[in-house]
Amino acid sequence: MFEKSLNAYNEAKEVIPGGVDSPVRAFKGVLGTPPFIDRGEGAYLFDIDGNKYLDFVQSWGPLIFGHCDKDIEEAVIETCKKGLSFGAPTLLETSLAHEITDMYDYIDKVRFVSSGTEAVMSAIRLARGVTGKDDILKFEGCYHGHSDSLLVQAGSGLATFGSPSSPGVPADLIKHTLLSEYNNIEDLKKCFENSSDISCIIIEPIAGNMGLIPAEQDFLKACRDLCDEHGALLIFDEVMTGFRASLTGASGTVDTKADIITFGKVIGAGMPVGAFASSASIMNHLSPDGTVYQAGTLSGNPVAMSAGLVSLKKLKANPEVYVSLNAKAVKLTNGFKKAASENGISLQVNTRGSMFGFFFCENEPKNFKDVGLCNFDYFAKFHNEMLKKGFYFACSQYEAGFISTVMTDDMVNECIEAAQEVLAKLK
Ligand SMILES: *Cc1c(COP(=O)(O)O)cnc(C)c1O
Repeated sequence: MFEKSLNAYNEAKEVIPGGVDSPVRAFKGVLGTPPFIDRGEGAYLFDIDGNKYLDFVQSWGPLIFGHCDKDIEEAVIETCKKGLSFGAPTLLETSLAHEITDMYDYIDKVRFVSSGTEAVMSAIRLARGVTGKDDILKFEGCYHGHSDSLLVQAGSGLATFGSPSSPGVPADLIKHTLLSEYNNIEDLKKCFENSSDISCIIIEPIAGNMGLIPAEQDFLKACRDLCDEHGALLIFDEVMTGFRASLTGASGTVDTKADIITFGKVIGAGMPVGAFASSASIMNHLSPDGTVYQAGTLSGNPVAMSAGLVSLKKLKANPEVYVSLNAKAVKLTNGFKKAASENGISLQVNTRGSMFGFFFCENEPKNFKDVGLCNFDYFAKFHNEMLKKGFYFACSQYEAGFISTVMTDDMVNECIEAAQEVLAKLK
């Protein structure tokens, strides 16, 4: 059933490292090989062998309206006809900036870039530029793109400076990145004891890159308080959760306010986009007004802006979609949990808005270490069998899942039925 994809994969491997342009796509986390996609339609994906899948990945988050949404498609085509890029300002950028800033009373200005990686990298430079401090603090298991300073793993331990998690990243660069445990206030405090030069804390307020693990309210408050006490800025990385976890992202679901918010994924509706946003007083430090340099040839690209603009306008016109998206996420994960427990398998589940996570482990995971205790064997088997039945889940225990507005209750029910069959044979 995967013959053409398998051939395509082998051919791709000859000219593209690992056959893929982003490592997670290679299905190594589930010991499989990736279907090559021909096209999407609504809630479904179709591969080159003609298999049809209900898509819970949605290009890793951006496609909240599913594939080929007519309104987005039309806007993109009309914009394309006027030219793909000008490297000059367009009205679309201002409009999309308004759509974002209007949602937050403490956010005045946005700068657009072309990826989440770029958004975070730029936000960190801004935080360093504004505070005049060099160190940054991140949490184990949070992903913020693949820029050098963020590819860090625990060195001698947590709450201290880490070591590079990839060759090619100089240890000297990582000297400025402190690594701390998610949802661990004691650890966080130690970081501020270990460094008096922290420019910012960067965090996914709802972590979506170690499965789905929300930060606890008092933990986020501790982040805020420590930043205020030590003159550091708090960055919420909402590249995944922005307009996903709620209409105001993760920020709208927690009491703590960030100084800078990064966006990506949904604000581009499937086109390459990132953005970072903050108060005027912070954003005015950016060039050309200020001295912190940041630039991009294709930044604010009109085609991407028009896709994002339609997407955000549709979401704002129908804020109730988040209720039904979450109801489906809850229904799906509860269905999984019930089927698992009937077969003597422990499954932990989380949902936030249109996002969900499920973990093959005994206790609710609170951090990266906890996720490491999951039964990865079960996850791989579950993934492989569900794929064969036509359900496309993220190919790693460390990724989140997504519901799209075009997914119906019937589709969710079919998925639960398939999961019941798979879980019954998992052990
Ligand atoms: C996806 C993601 C990024 C990186 O975005 P890219 O567009 O892949 O560069 C950064 N932060 C978070 C939280 C993400 O989920």
